[in-house]
Amino acid sequence: MGGVGGSLARSGVLIFASQLSERRRLNGENPSQRERPPNPSTQTPHTNPLRSRSMAKSFHVTTFGCQMNVHDSERMRGMLASLGYDEAESRDTADLILFNTCSIRESADSRFIAHLGEAKRLKSEQPERIVGVGGCWAQSVKDEVFQRFPFVDVAFGPGQIHKLAEFLNSDSLSAQGYFEFEDFAGHLPTRREREFQGWLQISQGCNCVCSYCIVPSTRGKEVSRDPGELILEAEALAADGVREVTLLGQNVNSYGRSLPPGRRIGFAELLARVDAIDGIERIRYTSPHPKDMSEDVIRAHAELPALCEQIHLPLQSGSSAVLKRMRRTYNRQRYMDRVALIREHVPDCAITTDIIVGFPGETEADFAETLEVAEEVGYDGAFTFVFSPRRETEAATMDGQLPHPVKVERMERLLEVVQRRARERAQRFVGRSLEVLVEGRSRTDETKLRGRTRHGKAVNFEGAAAPGEFVEVEIETTTSQTLSGVSVKPLSQLL
Ligand code: SAM
Ligand code: SF4
Repeated sequence: MGGVGGSLARSGVLIFASQLSERRRLNGENPSQRERPPNPSTQTPHTNPLRSRSMAKSFHVTTFGCQMNVHDSERMRGMLASLGYDEAESRDTADLILFNTCSIRESADSRFIAHLGEAKRLKSEQPERIVGVGGCWAQSVKDEVFQRFPFVDVAFGPGQIHKLAEFLNSDSLSAQGYFEFEDFAGHLPTRREREFQGWLQISQGCNCVCSYCIVPSTRGKEVSRDPGELILEAEALAADGVREVTLLGQNVNSYGRSLPPGRRIGFAELLARVDAIDGIERIRYTSPHPKDMSEDVIRAHAELPALCEQIHLPLQSGSSAVLKRMRRTYNRQRYMDRVALIREHVPDCAITTDIIVGFPGETEADFAETLEVAEEVGYDGAFTFVFSPRRETEAATMDGQLPHPVKVERMERLLEVVQRRARERAQRFVGRSLEVLVEGRSRTDETKLRGRTRHGKAVNFEGAAAPGEFVEVEIETTTSQTLSGVSVKPLSQLL
């Protein structure tokens, strides 16, 4: 992922406060060469209203997209709290309106643009409001964002959250964009949605070249974080009350390859080190790639007490011909071999997946193969997507783009198989007592509680327990998505 190049002039008003800029200065770099030019529409320097105002400042953040964005938004919340901002209940009462955006499919773009329209209206009513746009969409339109949306004050790519603080701390401001990945946000404070669940970002970017995917161009090449730093962060999470940690990356199981030889460990070893931390009772990760799902990682699910019995194994298509055009680097047989290995080492493991329907050139016979794999594997859950052509991806201009009604019709058939098989799979839990980490009240029935099993299944149940507590729940009924039951007792009382 590149910055916007050295030809851009620096705004004369932006104050670079961070140590990072200082480091660059010492390295002989000119920080201005990495920044976007000021927005022409707001080029006249003006005093930063958020800095000069003495009363409390407030922010509102809307998050779109994947868990990486959810994690980045928690960092934004933590960082803004440390700068003295309160979180506003709604956008119309916020001094700072932030969006953390996604660009994975066109639908994500259009949903966000509608929200941005509201921010424009709010800013016109109160011009000293600041509008900020971060994340993958911002990165993907970096060259046009200020021209297309002149009311945006600050734009930053994924992994650029610290730049937001720099922008807000400057005495005066003109619109700025920050798009070059510099460092992980591990040092930033965070405000977790649930205090007992935490994220650990282990890598950034992706070296794969899946022909449909915009991620490599928005998040750049893969960079792994140093294992020592990760373990310190995981220990700090545990000390802060986190019981369940989710390791995050675009391709988590290729972790380590970019590390220098003396510091390099593989993903299975990283899992073992996190498992050894006192207090971490559940470990999950997302997303792994089937090509890197090695036997040691699969065995770790059987051997490490904290590593949950759940593996997300994105299929994308059941047809080897389509997989080849997707540049997934595995075929149907190799994928099924991975599934067989998982079932051999961890028979009760929940397997979930991602599937794309209607990839360019997908024939009825190709699609039938996807249905066959979905039948055969019997996924515990699946995220299903209609193929969406993304700018500057190879698949967007491939021959054989399918009409939307064909994609929708295939999606309906796929959903029938996926949901039926998930319902059938969930039957194996009926009559069993499962460990559930309580998350809060049920969303559908206030009188019940809600939590998650180690298999990643949501459970609604009767009983009394506090969020963050582990309880044992006897499962009575299921749907394809959720289990229902009665709690026997908090586990602490059973010990
Ligand atoms: N790194 C993960 C992997 O390789 O499976 C995926 C990350 S991506 C954020 C999540 C999912 O979005 C992908 O697995 C894919 O199914 C879906 N996706 C990505 N690009 C897409 C596109 N252009 N159209 C439809 N679905 C897409
Ligand atoms: Fe995108 Fe995942 Fe492929 Fe990377 S591995 S290019 S994130 S789909």
